[in-house]
Amino acid sequence: MAEIRRDLVKSNWVGIVADMALKPQEFPINKWGIETTSNNIICPFCEGHEAFTPPEIMAIRHDDSEANAAGWSIRVIPNKFSVLHPDGILEKKHNGIYSNYNGVGRQEVIIETPEHGVDLHEFDEARIVMIINILKQRYNVLSQDDRIKYIQIYKNRGIFAGASQEHSHSQVIGLPFVPQENSGVIDYYHKTGSCLLCDIIRQEKLVRERLVYETEHFLLICPYASRFPYETWVIPKKHCEHFGAISEAEINELAMLCKKYTSAMIDCLQNPAYNYMLNSAPVNVPYIPGFHWYLEITPRLLVTAGVDIATGIYMNPVAPELAASLLRDKLLGQD
Ligand SMILES: [Zn+2]
Ligand SMILES: [Zn+2]
Repeated sequence: MAEIRRDLVKSNWVGIVADMALKPQEFPINKWGIETTSNNIICPFCEGHEAFTPPEIMAIRHDDSEANAAGWSIRVIPNKFSVLHPDGILEKKHNGIYSNYNGVGRQEVIIETPEHGVDLHEFDEARIVMIINILKQRYNVLSQDDRIKYIQIYKNRGIFAGASQEHSHSQVIGLPFVPQENSGVIDYYHKTGSCLLCDIIRQEKLVRERLVYETEHFLLICPYASRFPYETWVIPKKHCEHFGAISEAEINELAMLCKKYTSAMIDCLQNPAYNYMLNSAPVNVPYIPGFHWYLEITPRLLVTAGVDIATGIYMNPVAPELAASLLRDKLLGQD
């Protein structure tokens, strides 16, 4: 049984698997920073290996194929190693000064392709459109579960971005509480009465030095206080709180941008590990103003260091203005 434990010192939460999911020798990186295990001897995400995963939640399949067998294009499965489980009711327990929740929630893996070794930037746009449509659908399904208060969509690519499988995939996690991470948007709204992301769009369009690319529906910027070198945000220009309300025209454009940006970034930065993180408004809670969904992309060129963990202040060795100019030149060079 997994738990979500309250970290009293950091004022945050930690997800803990109660048994030993990984033995000491099974952790993927040793003290020299070298990958020590190859988890892809039998890749459970490859077509033909469906028996190595939990039963699928849904899949885009060829007409005559059966569930949990070969013949799919995109497959959604529960995360086998999740700290969250989909059954039961949320319960808070106290233990002396400590407290925890039982890990009620959902965590799903979207296997983006049946092919091993083909990454997001190599997909055709039609596949990326399908992936975004499935992410939208899973977001809207999870938001119907009133035990879930926050839905985070994310992608880990490469071991230094936290990927435990090399095979291209994204994840959706439905948490039973709202994390504190993006509470700045709520504070900003209370102080100014306006949406922070809309104000960021306005200022970045005016200043332009951190602007990477602009399309009809989206603005790409390297944020003013980038935590990671070459961190980039993709912000929908139309104010919209929930990713689940993304329009068809926005999905088509976002697919084009994901391919274009990821190809440029991978080329610029010599094929780094990276994360995609899609932030959206909480669900199933009394209305909280200030949210505006957006996508964060963080190339993982540095391992998080002691000072970053200790203080929560990230030390970024590349100015976002320089990062933006490099990425902008690369993207415009593709046009
Ligand atoms: Zn595979
Ligand atoms: Zn807004």
